[in-house]
Amino acid sequence: MQQALVLEKKGVLSLREIDLPAEAGPGEVKIEIDTVGVCGSDVHYYTHGAIGPYVLREPMVLGHEAAGTVVDVGSDVRNLKVGDRVCMEPGVPNLSSRASKLGIYNVDPDVRFWATPPIHGVLTPFVIHPAAFTYKLPDNVSFAEGAMVEPFAIGMQAATRARIQPGDVGAVIGAGPIGIMVALAALAGGCARVFISDLSADKLKIAGQYPGLIPVNITKRPFADVIAEETGGWGADVVFEASGSPKAYQGMFDLVRPGGAFVLVGLPVEPAQLDVAGAISKEVRIETVFRYANIFDRALELIASGKVDLKPLITGTFDFKDSIKAFERAAAGLPSDVKLQIKMKE
Ligand SMILES: [Zn+2]
Repeated sequence: MQQALVLEKKGVLSLREIDLPAEAGPGEVKIEIDTVGVCGSDVHYYTHGAIGPYVLREPMVLGHEAAGTVVDVGSDVRNLKVGDRVCMEPGVPNLSSRASKLGIYNVDPDVRFWATPPIHGVLTPFVIHPAAFTYKLPDNVSFAEGAMVEPFAIGMQAATRARIQPGDVGAVIGAGPIGIMVALAALAGGCARVFISDLSADKLKIAGQYPGLIPVNITKRPFADVIAEETGGWGADVVFEASGSPKAYQGMFDLVRPGGAFVLVGLPVEPAQLDVAGAISKEVRIETVFRYANIFDRALELIASGKVDLKPLITGTFDFKDSIKAFERAAAGLPSDVKLQIKMKE
């Protein structure tokens, strides 16, 4: 038995003892968790008890953005040793599956993903995880940054799907945590400048502190007007939808240049209307992003190189004993909060 932050049912969290695996089997490592990020999906399970087809039916440990230290290694583990500082990829596919063989293990229907019912997450002092999905942190990458790799990986997957070319102009709809991650990955991937839109001045202020990110407040001017003005009426080379709002789909192809790419990242809760003629008339290439595959090691390379600094996005850190408070604050959705983290170790 060990302590964990357990979502008992919709709206009810408790810090209590729960029975979790304690021994590293073949190919697995045991990790002492140091830091866990609070994600929108964790908060959504807390406030709504479900995300689409994933419904909470039994108590579940929350948390999937984590970093820690290897404290034990099972047999057949060669890439890690006791004492290594690591971060973990929260989704574990069936490596024999057809999707895994194709290299698209993120869309393996059998993937087991932390804190997605019925799989327990990692807001608990120790977890067991496959070594193949555990990544050593470079010495200059902190645990707090290590716990930011998971959300940043989504941005990197989006930038990868966009097939950015050096000097591209990017545009990102939505300056929430994922929108900012996408914009930073687009810059790192070669965009010369990236426009990012939102309704919230607070969120845009956070995004705008990064050189190369240009905030656009859509309560003042339509995003498409700004993009047209800045690109001589041509449009952005790569556009990312990261708000998840069905409203963002209205006129979305006005943002993109003829032959450009549109990458869908945000997950609308309701079906969204797509202007097919708008896309066809520009021969827009449309891509979708579901989590990530083969990204964590490259995300760590970028963070360690100093080209991407995620530290300014950590806007609050709570002790494990205060983790319910952390979730209450995250559920309040303050526009000045990007990422809240929970520190497991004193
Ligand atoms: Zn997350």
